[in-house]
Amino acid sequence: MLSFSGLVRAIGPYGGYKFASELTKNYPRILMYHRFSDHGVSGSLSKSILDKQFSYLKENFEVLSLSDVLNECELSNSSAGRKKPIVSLTIDDGYRDFYEICFPLLKKYQFPATFYVATDFVGQGIWLWHDKLKWIIENGSVISESFFVKEREYSREYWLDNKTKLWRELVSVMLKMPGEEIADLLDRISFLAKTTPPASPIPEYRAVSWSELREMQADRVSIGGHTKSHYSLGYLSKDDIKAQVLGCRDHLSHELGEQSRHFCFPNGQPTDITEFAKAEVKNAGFESAVAAYYDRSGVSDRFSMSRHGVGESWFGFLKSVWGIDRLGAQLLDRNSKFDWGEM
Ligand SMILES: [Zn+2]
Repeated sequence: MLSFSGLVRAIGPYGGYKFASELTKNYPRILMYHRFSDHGVSGSLSKSILDKQFSYLKENFEVLSLSDVLNECELSNSSAGRKKPIVSLTIDDGYRDFYEICFPLLKKYQFPATFYVATDFVGQGIWLWHDKLKWIIENGSVISESFFVKEREYSREYWLDNKTKLWRELVSVMLKMPGEEIADLLDRISFLAKTTPPASPIPEYRAVSWSELREMQADRVSIGGHTKSHYSLGYLSKDDIKAQVLGCRDHLSHELGEQSRHFCFPNGQPTDITEFAKAEVKNAGFESAVAAYYDRSGVSDRFSMSRHGVGESWFGFLKSVWGIDRLGAQLLDRNSKFDWGEM
């Protein structure tokens, strides 16, 4: 039996994409990017694929800033007059590869974008904690004794077996920890692995500088907030959530000037986006906030707008931009009627 994806692959090039796009034309597609590299090393998007995606967007879509997308959404039936569907580009975290690889391509195609930065990552030159953990696992000695995280044992054998798997598993557990527990655990693991990470990240994991952010802000890149330390807000105390949101906002205003900005929840899963955290982001004056997953709610909640993750897969990219993901989310949601109007 032909799967949904198989069906899309089969009919897409013969008008299926255009048909899906017609059904979802009023729905803006917010794309989510993270890392870039010259030749697509693991976990990053290569320059050539990004160039191909942007060239395709230039031809078939209207690429708008997030603020313009929100303004369009406020005006009823606003996109009806547009001939092409709307796409908005967002990039998370604050890594320097955005400045080196993506920004020149944004200029080439004259696209606006929103770049969300963790302000301590930029301002204090600290590691993002998941990169630090990766460095420790890759560069440390094999641990001499087991350690426990949330009652799960991580043994010497486990460490030896598959370092990437170990890293992924620890990240998924640590994402559900408060910030100070993460810092303590990193110290404990680096002690057991008899290594000390450099005080600042190695080049691969380095952040942009404030001056680079100023340069980009003057050239169609909106700089948004991504907290101070990149901890999941869903596992912090109320005071810590406030400190992460307001501290990030104030640091951005101080370095880049006061202006309307957007926010992105670290990790960005439903458990990270609590009503309290959303209210704090709103009260801090951010114009909107984005999640890191895609579901049928789309952009209906301005403070947890869902996004389409973009990777190396060309087919995955086409499904996102032509609205196939959107249609799929609508069709597969059995609890609600298929609503053609609010896409
Ligand atoms: Zn992030």
